[in-house]
Formats: sequence, C-alpha cells, structure tokens
Amino acid sequence: MNNELIFLKPVFKNMIWGGSKLKTDFGYDVEGDNIGECWAISAHPNGDCTVESGKYAGMKLSELWASHRELFGDAEGDRFPLLIKIIDAKADLSIQVHPDNEYAAVHENGSLGKTECWYVLDCEENTSIVIGHNAKNKQELADMIHEKRWKELIREVPLKKGDFFQIEPGCLHAIKGGTVILETQQSSDITYRVYDYDRLQNGKPRELHIDKSIDVIKAPFTPPAYSQVTEQKNGYISKKLIECKYYTVEKIDVKEKALIKADKKFMNVSVISGSGTANGAPIKKGSHFIVPFGTETLEICGNAELIVSYI
Ligand code: ZN
Repeated sequence: MNNELIFLKPVFKNMIWGGSKLKTDFGYDVEGDNIGECWAISAHPNGDCTVESGKYAGMKLSELWASHRELFGDAEGDRFPLLIKIIDAKADLSIQVHPDNEYAAVHENGSLGKTECWYVLDCEENTSIVIGHNAKNKQELADMIHEKRWKELIREVPLKKGDFFQIEPGCLHAIKGGTVILETQQSSDITYRVYDYDRLQNGKPRELHIDKSIDVIKAPFTPPAYSQVTEQKNGYISKKLIECKYYTVEKIDVKEKALIKADKKFMNVSVISGSGTANGAPIKKGSHFIVPFGTETLEICGNAELIVSYI
C-alpha cells in the first residue's frame, strides 16, 4: 500500500498582467509584483514541479511520471496529462484561443491541444470575463479580427467568486484584471493570441497569431452544455464541476473530518481555503499534492475547500 501523498513545489511565472496576490493571499515565497501564474501541479517542460518531501523529494514530476508509473495507476501516455495553475490577473490577459489535439499535433510539433477550465477563486466587484464571440460565421469572424472590431466581436459575461467555466479548444477567451482563478487544463502551453490591447513588453508588442487563431476559432460560438451534481458524502460536500474527455474536476468542502474515497488512478488536490491535515500531513491554502494510486482513503481533518481533478 502506498499512501504517502506527493506534495509539490510550484513554479512561478512573471507576466505583464500579473500581480502580487500569490504572495499576499496565498503566502508563497515569491518576490515581484507581476507574478501571473503559479504552476502548482505540472510536469510540463516549461514548468516542471519538484517533489517537496518524502521518499521522492527533489525529483521532478516528469521524472516521477517516467520512472514510477505505478504511483499513477499505470496510466498510459508519454507525459503527465494535466496541469493545475493559479492565475492572478492584475491586468487583462490577451484575448486568446487554444487549438485541439489534432491541430496542435500538426502545427505545434506534436504538442497537445488545450481544453481548460476555470474555477473563480476571487474577483473584484463588477468584473467580467471573455468567453466566446459574437460573429455569426467564420467570414464575419475573420472580418472583425482583420478590421480590429474588438468591441463588437468579444462576448463578455459578468463574473463572481465561485463561478466555473469550461473552455473548449476553439473558444475565444480572456481573463480580465481583478480576477484570481484556479485552472485545470491539459498539459499544454500552446496559446494563440488574437489581441493584446496593443501593450508592450520590454518595448515590443507580444507576438500575435492571427491566422492560426482564425483557423481554430469556432464560429458561431455555442456555450458548452454540462450538468453539475452536488452530493453530501462522508464528512464533505462534493460538487462535480465538469466531467469531460480529458479530466473530471470536483470542488470538495470539508467540515472537520472527511474520508474521501481515493479510487482513481491518481488525484490532483489543491487547497483553496482553510487548513488542517491530509493523511496526517499539514495542509493549508495554497498546498498542492497528488494522491497516488493505492491510497484508498484520503482523510482530511480541519475545515478546508479543495479542488480535485483526475483522469
Ligand atoms: Zn487559455
């Protein structure tokens, strides 16, 4: 029986739109006032997390995936499939879109495409988020982009804490300033930037990818349909946020003591509020760990909210 949880040390990314909440709200030991992303559970070459403690301390998650597949229930695949991030957007992120696996395989050197989803951890009042667009068809989409008719093109929806969004490949999207989210996504770093508010980074505009964007954006936009189920379980409330081809994501609220059945190949767990212990190890807001195969039960003591994902 292997029930030692695998705690990971995040990788941080400076971004022109980033802020300082990863330090001030989450307590991460990171300097700077434009820290945009915390790659919390990741084996992606652009941000490969290190195991923090225990038997595998010091190993990269990619190495663990390559050499100890038994910890992941012998899951198949040449790379760890998911990437969990916390994003602190002090300013607006670029208006962007991701390709699907098929497009990325051909145009991006065998990379995975990206399906992603967002759980809104916090946002300022009157914040909105960009999901989809208003073009009737591909031609109108291309015209609006080439003519820079951003106001007409972009579909914005109001935002509040606790909202959840599934972003399929081909869906135009952007997080706006004043938003903190937890993102669960396929392990991919392929983003096509459509519009970046004419901002400069080190004196130069960041690269745009207009042709590839028009290739992959689906028109017209249709919001994805899915249902969310809430269940009272053994000491906790579980809300299934999404179940799709690439991942299932649940939000779990623990009051005092929860016995969570760990019957998946492995589970990614992020603590988004509260504190306590997980199978005896201390946890707090901002802790991230993997529950390896064979754990059977994840015992959480304390009051905490978790975002859990698995394949
Ligand atoms: Zn995205």
